[in-house]
Amino acid sequence: MKADIDTSQDRVKGSEAMKTHKCQAEGCGQRIDIKHFMCTRHWFMVPVTLRRVIKAGYRPGRVIDKLPSKVYDVAAVAALAIVKNNEAHR
Ligand SMILES: [Zn+2]
Repeated sequence: MKADIDTSQDRVKGSEAMKTHKCQAEGCGQRIDIKHFMCTRHWFMVPVTLRRVIKAGYRPGRVIDKLPSKVYDVAAVAALAIVKNNEAHR
């Protein structure tokens, strides 16, 4: 399954759009600082080992320049799947 990470909105020009983006978890529309991958609630659903990988690979602006990072991509997809599963069983 290919994770649908919506980054299109992050391309919006403007000071506010450059500093925030949407939490990457499916169905979560929370605006968060671009330094973060997910909102706090979703982030803490992700196992700490995965969080480390994502933190190491994630950086603001990555969605714009599209530099490839396989490990990061796999970790991000896994994290989103875990959060989705977690949300489905609440
Ligand atoms: Zn969220």
